Amino acid sequence: MSQEFRAPRGTFDLLPPRGEAVLAIRDALSAPVRRAGYGYVETPIFEDTALFERGVGESTDVVTKEMYSFSSRGGDELTLRPEGTAPVLRAVVEHGLYRQGLPIKLWYAGSYFRYERPQRGRYRHFSQVGAEVIGTDDPTADAETIVLAMDAYQALGLTGVRLLINSLGSDESRPAYRSALRTYLRGLDLDDDNRQRVELNPLRVLDDKRPEMQKALHDAPVITDFLAADDRAHHDAVRSMLADAGLSFTDEPRLVRGLDYYTRTLYEFVHEGLGAQSAVGGGGRYDGLAEIIGGPRLPGVGFALGVDRTLLAMEAEGLQLPAGPRVEVFAVPIGVDAARRSFALVTQLRRTGVAADLATGRGLKGAMKAADRSGATYAIVLGDRDIVAGVAQIRDLRTGEQQQLPLSDVVAELRRRLRKDG
Ligand code: AMP
Repeated sequence: MSQEFRAPRGTFDLLPPRGEAVLAIRDALSAPVRRAGYGYVETPIFEDTALFERGVGESTDVVTKEMYSFSSRGGDELTLRPEGTAPVLRAVVEHGLYRQGLPIKLWYAGSYFRYERPQRGRYRHFSQVGAEVIGTDDPTADAETIVLAMDAYQALGLTGVRLLINSLGSDESRPAYRSALRTYLRGLDLDDDNRQRVELNPLRVLDDKRPEMQKALHDAPVITDFLAADDRAHHDAVRSMLADAGLSFTDEPRLVRGLDYYTRTLYEFVHEGLGAQSAVGGGGRYDGLAEIIGGPRLPGVGFALGVDRTLLAMEAEGLQLPAGPRVEVFAVPIGVDAARRSFALVTQLRRTGVAADLATGRGLKGAMKAADRSGATYAIVLGDRDIVAGVAQIRDLRTGEQQQLPLSDVVAELRRRLRKDG
């Protein structure tokens, strides 16, 4: 018996029409940053494993449990990228982009991989659109990334996206907070994983979403009480600029995110309609990351927006999903010569900007059905006898009206009817 193949666990196939919706969502999520002058960057889908171990952080679930790591045939230790910021920063450092003037503004989109427990909205292969502002610690950059992301959600018609923000402080604020938090956490009855996190990076424990843990964490010290004056000023400046831009947000002093590199500003976009996996996007500042991966000091801030969850959020709000381009003309040939001639007509239409398709290898009934299903406005019905007579039938598929035209006029007439001739 032959083997039946299925998409691997935690992955899914995107089929039409949802595939078209995802393309359009990706475009919409990136449109605001493109309009704001961010340049497009593409990095490989795999990187040296050490880049993520160092960049994302050895205390994170992403690094300890979720990486798709492998040795290549040549013995290189590689990992399918679990996130986009460390690779982009690696590229900026490798190519010395920071020598051409700062800040550097970049955007990207693509596939990311994490070995997570699959559930609705959480996959092992998922799609993100990301943006980074690298080489500045100006709070304007933080506010800009947040506003551009929110503008993208709004352009898609989403009304239920909420913004949560926090500051994790810099190295000036963090040690005192970490030690206060550690003291508090050591007083709790924790499982082995969390006990380990307390020693490695106690902030990680705050990310434990289990209700009993959230309850136990209720009285934990919050970072905002420990912010040094500079960190506080930075945070207040970001918050004022968001307010000026008309954004409402919720201060969430316990917000932490799954990657270790964040400093100061941290934010998340959540949507009620998604259930447990409520984050549709998130981001933050990472002032130490470039140095951690062997580069110069390059403070930066950026976001990653989840394309798959944005689609789920749109469905939850009952929004009409964006559709792909619709075929305008569909040719129905009857006979061998008609098939060749129809293909030539369709090619000519396509080359002049008309969305056109044709039936191949079907009887008349199947071909007419295909024409209807295509959503085209006009059909060209062409038989071998029509060709001898030098004519074709143009059928308006909305009204059923049919008109006979000289074959040589078909393209011009359709272009005129579709207003493509001027
Ligand atoms: P992160 O890279 O963890 O900051 O995630 C940024 C955004 O990517 C999240 O808010 C989600 O929308 C999306 N995302 C992260 N992990 C997954 C996953 N496993 N499956 C689907 N979407 C994800």
